[in-house]
Amino acid sequence: MVNRRLFLLAITFLLHVFASFSYALTLSDYFTDTWTSNNGLPHNSINAIAQTDDGYLWFATWEGVAQYNGREFKLFDRNAATGIRDSGTRALVAAPDNQLWIGGARGSLTLREGYDWYPQDSAQSLVNHVLIDQQKNAWFAIQGKGVFKRTYIAPHQYQDEQAFITGISGYRLTQTANGDIYAATSKGLYRIRDDQVQLIHFPNGRHTLHVMHVSMDQQGRLLIATEAGAWRMDNGKLSLVHASLAHEPISVIEEDQNGQLWLGTISTGLIRITGQSLERMSTAEGLPNNRVISIFQDFEGSIWVGTNGGILRLREAPFISISKKDGLSGNFVRTVMPNQDNHLLVGSDAGLDLISETEIHSLKAPQSEPLSVLSLESLANGNTLVGTYVHGVYQLSDNQLTPFLSTESGLPAAEVRAILQDKQGGLWFGTPAGLAHYSPSLTQMTLYTKSNSALPDDYVVALAEDELGRVWFGTGIGAGYIEDGQVTALALEQYEQAEFSFGFQVEPGFVWIATDRGLIRFRQSDQSLAIIGRPQGLPIDKFFQVVKDRSGSFWLSSNRGLWRIPYDQAHAVADGKQSHIRFDHFGRSDGMGSSQANGGSNPAMSITDSGQMFIATAHGVSKVTPNHLKQPDQILLPLVIEDVSFDNQSVNPASQHQVPAGTDLIRITYAGLGYSMQNHLEYRTQLIGFEDEWINRGNHNVAEYTNLPPGSYQFRVAARYPYGQWNEADFQYAFHIEPFWWQRSDIRLILSFMALLTLGAIIYLRLYALKQRERQLQQQVQLQTRELRKQSAEFERLSNEDALTGLANRRAFDRALQARLSQPTSDTCFSLAIVDIDHFKRINDSFSHLTGDQVIKALSKLLTDNKHGIEMVARWGGEEFACITSGEGSSITERFERLREAIAKTTITTDQADIHITVSVGIASSHQTHNYKTLLQLADKALYQAKQNGRNIVVSLSQDNASS
Ligand code: GH3
Ligand code: MG
Ligand code: MG
Repeated sequence: MVNRRLFLLAITFLLHVFASFSYALTLSDYFTDTWTSNNGLPHNSINAIAQTDDGYLWFATWEGVAQYNGREFKLFDRNAATGIRDSGTRALVAAPDNQLWIGGARGSLTLREGYDWYPQDSAQSLVNHVLIDQQKNAWFAIQGKGVFKRTYIAPHQYQDEQAFITGISGYRLTQTANGDIYAATSKGLYRIRDDQVQLIHFPNGRHTLHVMHVSMDQQGRLLIATEAGAWRMDNGKLSLVHASLAHEPISVIEEDQNGQLWLGTISTGLIRITGQSLERMSTAEGLPNNRVISIFQDFEGSIWVGTNGGILRLREAPFISISKKDGLSGNFVRTVMPNQDNHLLVGSDAGLDLISETEIHSLKAPQSEPLSVLSLESLANGNTLVGTYVHGVYQLSDNQLTPFLSTESGLPAAEVRAILQDKQGGLWFGTPAGLAHYSPSLTQMTLYTKSNSALPDDYVVALAEDELGRVWFGTGIGAGYIEDGQVTALALEQYEQAEFSFGFQVEPGFVWIATDRGLIRFRQSDQSLAIIGRPQGLPIDKFFQVVKDRSGSFWLSSNRGLWRIPYDQAHAVADGKQSHIRFDHFGRSDGMGSSQANGGSNPAMSITDSGQMFIATAHGVSKVTPNHLKQPDQILLPLVIEDVSFDNQSVNPASQHQVPAGTDLIRITYAGLGYSMQNHLEYRTQLIGFEDEWINRGNHNVAEYTNLPPGSYQFRVAARYPYGQWNEADFQYAFHIEPFWWQRSDIRLILSFMALLTLGAIIYLRLYALKQRERQLQQQVQLQTRELRKQSAEFERLSNEDALTGLANRRAFDRALQARLSQPTSDTCFSLAIVDIDHFKRINDSFSHLTGDQVIKALSKLLTDNKHGIEMVARWGGEEFACITSGEGSSITERFERLREAIAKTTITTDQADIHITVSVGIASSHQTHNYKTLLQLADKALYQAKQNGRNIVVSLSQDNASS
C-alpha cells in the first residue's frame, strides 16, 4: 500500500541537507522529544522498536505492543484475534510485504501483515528476536532455549522446527550477505553456516562473552554488543569499535544511514560514535533512563531510543542553533554579520563573538564591561564598526575592539541601532535621537532630525544605500531616503497604517522594506509603493528583516519565526498580478533556538557568500542553508487507512469492502505517517461517487459519511506539511454500499419493466377506450345525422303540407303548378280550379272554429276521393282549395258540377252538428295562358263570378262568359 520510494526520497533529501553543513551536528544539536507512559505508552520499558512498510512505528513493552501514528499509541495485547498469547512483548521485527513479527514473553508468536493477523505456533519461552532469512525461513532467538528455525512453505506458513543452538539464551540474530546467520547468545557469538554451528572466538580470550546484540553495518560488517565492549567483525577479524569501551557492557549497537554508530548501555545511557569521536547522552542531557534497550532509525532518519524509562527521539532539524551552551557570550542575539573572512560576527546583550568553523571567540574591549551590541557594519578598509546600546560606536580591527565614536565626539545618542558606510565613504549612524551623517574624514557631521528635516521620526533603526546613491532610513514612524542632503519621506501609512520600518533589502530598481504591517516594495522607476501584508496572505503583521537568498526566496524574520516567500511571487503580488502569496514557516520545531527573531537593530539576519543564513534570535543564532532546504512538500508522506467502521462496527479495511444495506454511518480514519511535524499535518479527503471535489479536513484524521445511497465509492486522502503541496496516498479505499432488495438493480429493472408494461397497458386501454368512444360518437353522429335527415325530410314534408288536412299547401301547389306550366314536353292542356266554401264564416260563427276545422277536413276528403279525376288538390287558403285536372272545357266544367252537387248532398258530421255546405268553383285553363300568375288570376276571377252569381255554382273562364 505504501510506496517505499517515498521514504527513500525523504531520506535522500535529509541526508543532502545535513551533509552540507560545515558545522558538524553534535549529539546535542539534535532536536529531542520524549514519550513515556504519561503520553499513552502502555509501559516505560521499550523492548524493541520497528517500522513496517506502511509507515507505522511499533514499540514492544511488557504490557503489549504500541502502534504509533505520530499522534497516539494504539495498544495490541493478549487477544485471540491477534494471536498474542501474552501481553509482555520482547521481539518486534518488520519484514518485507508489510509484515511485522511479534514475539512475546511465554513464547507467543504472531505475524501481522497489513491489517491481518496470522498466529504462529508457540516458541515455548520468551522470544528475544526473530529473523526472516533470504529463503523466507523464520529464525527465532529464545530465552533459555537457544536458536531454532522454521522452514517457510507458504505465506504465513512454516513447518519443521529445527534447533541449532540449545540450552542457552538466544538474544539476537542477523544474516550477512553471503547467507551466514550470526546469533548473539548468553554464551558467546555463534555463526551458522550451511546448518553448521560455530562459536566465534573473541581476541580478548573471552569466548563465551555475554553477547547482547548483533547487527550489520552498511558495508556488511558485523557489529556486536557484548558485556565487554562493542566489536566489529571485518573480514572475519574482530576488533573493538572504540577502545574506551573495552570494559563497558553494551546492550545494543546500530549504525545509522550516515555511518554513525549508536550504542546503548546497561546503565550509562546512549553513546554515539562518529569515526573515532565518541559522544554520550544520559539522563542529564534528557535521556529518559540510562538503561538503553533498543535503538532504531526511522524512514525519516530520526533516531528512536528505547530505554527502561520511555522513548527518546533525536531529530535532525533543518536549522542549527548556536547559543550560550556552545560558547556564545549571550543568548539574546541582536545582530549577525559575516566578516571578510566569512566568519560570523554575533552581537548580543552580553558582547561580541566571532564564530569560525572550529571555534567561538569572544571579542572584548579592553578595560570595559561587556558591550551590549546593537549593530554592525563592514567598512571598506576591512574594519568593522560596532554599534552598542550605551557605549556609542566601537571599531573592530584585527579582532581588537576600540572606541570609535561617542556622545562626547558628537554622536546624538550612545545608542546606535544601525550603521552604514556609503559609496563615498561617508558614515551614517541611526540613533533614537536622529540620523547622524559623518564625512569620510569624520570632520563634518550633519544631524537629520524630525525638527530640522522631513525625517518622519528621530528613532532611526535601519539604514541602506540603493544603486542611485540614496541613503534609506527606517524609523519608528515610516521610512524614506536622503539624496544630496534632501530628505524624502514615504507615505507608508497609506499601506495598512504601516509605521515601523525595521529593515531593507535593496536590489536594482527596487527597495524592499520590512515593516510592522508587512513587506513594502518601492519601485524606483515611478516611485510607487506596494504592500504584501495580511490582505495578501501573510499570516502576521510585523516583520523585522527581509533577506533574499540564492534559491529565489525572500526570508522574513519575525517574533513568530521565519517566513519564506517566493521572490517572483512577491513581485507579482506587488505588481497586482497575483492576489495572494505562498509562504513557508519555520520555527523552534525546525531547530531554531527560539521562534522569536530579534529586530530593531541591524543587521539582524544575514546571508554569507556561501549561502548560509544566520538569524539573530532571543536564544542564540539560528543557522540554515536555504539552498539545501527543500520545500517541505517534497517530503512525501506515507498515508494509511487506520480504521474503517460501518455503523460504529470496525471492519478490516484490507478485506471488507461491502457495506450492508441500510448502513447509516461510515467512518474512515486515516493518518499521514510523518513523525517529525505530525501536529502540523493537514489533510484533505474526497469520496468519489459522492463528492465532486476535495474536502479540507485540517488536522482532523476522520471522515464521516451518513446515509449514503447504495453504490460504489472510492475514498482518497492527501496530506501536506503546512503551506506545502498536497501529496496523495497511492491507494484508495473502495467500498460498495449494498442496496435493500427494493433498491437492487435487478429488482429495479423488473419493477421498471413492470411499470413499463403497466404504462403500455394503460396507454393501450386508453387508446382502445378512445377508439370505442370514437366509434360510439360516429354511430351517434350517424344516428343523429339520420335523425336530422329524417327531421329535415319531415320539415320538408311539413313545409309542403297543410297541417290540418294533410293536403299540399299553397307553397307546394305553387311549385307543382309552375313545374307543370314550364314542362316543355307536356303540351297536354290542364285546368286549374279553385273551390271555395260558401259562407263559411257562418259555420265558424254558428258553431265553433273547431267545427269549422272538421268541415274543412271533411271537404278535403271529398276532393281527394278520386271520384272526380282531380290530379292534385292543395289547400289554397283558409276554406279555399286549388285543383289541377288534365283537360279543359265543358267536360271539366261538368266534372266539377258533379263534384259541386256531390258536396252539396253530403252531410258532414261534426262533433256539434251535422252540417251541409255548398261550394263555388272558378276554373281557368292552361290553354288560356302559360303564365302562372295570370292563370291564377283567371281562376280567381271565375270564382269571383261564381260568388257574384249566387254561389253554389261552377264558372269556367275557358268558355267565354260561360255559366251554368
Ligand atoms: P263567401 O260565400 O263569400 O265565400 O262567404 P264566406 O263567409 O265563406 O267568405 P269569407 O272569405 O268572407 O270568409 C271566410 C271565412 O272562413 C273567414 C274565416 O274565419 C273562415 N276561415 C278561414 N280559414 C278557416 C279555418 O281553417 N277554419 C275555420 N273554422 N274557419 C276558417
Ligand atoms: Mg273564401
Ligand atoms: Mg267562402
